[in-house]
Amino acid sequence: MNVVAATGLIEPHGGTLVDRTGERPDDLDSLETITLTSREVSDLDMLASGALSPLEGFMGKADYEGVVEEMRLASGLPWALPVCLAVDKAPEGDRVVLADEAGRPLAVLEVDDVYGYDRQREAETCFRTTDKAHPGVERLYAQHPLYLAGRVTVFDRPEPAFPELAMDPAQTRAAFSERGWRRVVGFQTRNPIHRAHEYLTKCALETVDGLLIHPLVGDTKSDDVPAATRVECYRVLLDGYYPPDRVVISAFPAAMRYAGPREAIWHAICRKNFGCSHFIVGRDHAGVGDYYGTYDAQLIFDDYEPHELGIEPMFFEHAFWCKACGSMATPKTCPHGGDDHVFLSGTKVRELLEAGELPPAEFSRPEVAEVLIDAYK
Ligand SMILES: [Zn+2]
Repeated sequence: MNVVAATGLIEPHGGTLVDRTGERPDDLDSLETITLTSREVSDLDMLASGALSPLEGFMGKADYEGVVEEMRLASGLPWALPVCLAVDKAPEGDRVVLADEAGRPLAVLEVDDVYGYDRQREAETCFRTTDKAHPGVERLYAQHPLYLAGRVTVFDRPEPAFPELAMDPAQTRAAFSERGWRRVVGFQTRNPIHRAHEYLTKCALETVDGLLIHPLVGDTKSDDVPAATRVECYRVLLDGYYPPDRVVISAFPAAMRYAGPREAIWHAICRKNFGCSHFIVGRDHAGVGDYYGTYDAQLIFDDYEPHELGIEPMFFEHAFWCKACGSMATPKTCPHGGDDHVFLSGTKVRELLEAGELPPAEFSRPEVAEVLIDAYK
C-alpha cells in the first residue's frame, strides 16, 4: 500500500503526485536561457509542486493535440487546458534554462519537442471564442509562435506572494490527513467572499469532512480586487464565521486563464492533486464578460464519464438572502420572488463601498465590507 492510499485521501490525478524540484546543475552558465512570462512561471511552479500531476513539464504535441481536440492527454486521462511554453525559435541545445522576467534562473527544461500551433484553433476550442477582447484570447494571440516541450527540473521556486498561505499539494494533503479528513471540498475564488459564497461553502461543508478555501493569487485582470485585499477579507471572514478545525485556507498559485468551462475542469483536476475529493462549481465559473452561458461550466463535466475525473463536482445556483424564508437560499430552495431577495449588482456594491457605506449585512459580513471600504479609500 502506498502512502497516499494510507491517508484515505483521493489519489492525485494519474495516481502519483509529481515532484519536479531538484538540484541546480553545475553547467547552468553554458546553457541558453528562455525568459518566461509571469503566467508561464506560475505554470512552472505548479509543475514543480505536483499541482499539475501527472504533467512533468510543458506539453508535447501529442498531449497538446489531445487536450485541444478531445480534452484528454495522449494517455487518455482527462485534461482540459494546454500547459505550454511559447518561444520564438527552437533552442540549439538539448537543455535550456528557464528564467523569470527579472532574469533569475528557475529551472532546466530537457528539450523534447518544438512545434507550431494554430492560435485560432486553440482559441476556438479552449476559449470558445476568437474575439481578441477576451483576455485569454488576447494573451494567446500575442504569444510566440512555437511551443517548446519537455520535462522540467525546478531548482529555485519563485517566492510566494503570500508565504503564510503557500502550501504545495503534499502539504495540503498532510494538513487534511492530520485532521483526519478523507472527504474535502475545494473552493476556488478570485473575489472577496460575500454571504452568497459563504453559504455555498458551508452547504458543501455540511456533507464532507473539511473545506479548502483556495483563492487564486496568480495573475488576474486589472479590474479584479487585488489579491492582498482579498486575502485580508478571507482572514476576517474565517476568524469570525468558520470553525477553524474544519477549514484550511491556502493560496492557489495559478494565473487566471478566463477559459470558463474548460478552466472549471482544469481547476477541479488541480484541486484533486491538492487532496480535494469534491469541488464547488458555481454559475459562470472562471468566466469573463458574457462569453459563456451561465451553466456551461457545470454542463461540461458531463463530457466525461461519471467518476472519470475522480474529483466530484458540486454544482450550485446563485445564492441570496430571502426575507420571506429568513435565511440564505437559492432558486432551488426558495419559492419566493425577487422582491423578497436581497440582491445587489457588483456595480452597486462597488458604489456603496467607494462611498464608505456598508452593504446590507444580508449581503456582506460587515468585517469583510470594512476591509473593502479601507481598500477603496
Ligand atoms: Zn424565500
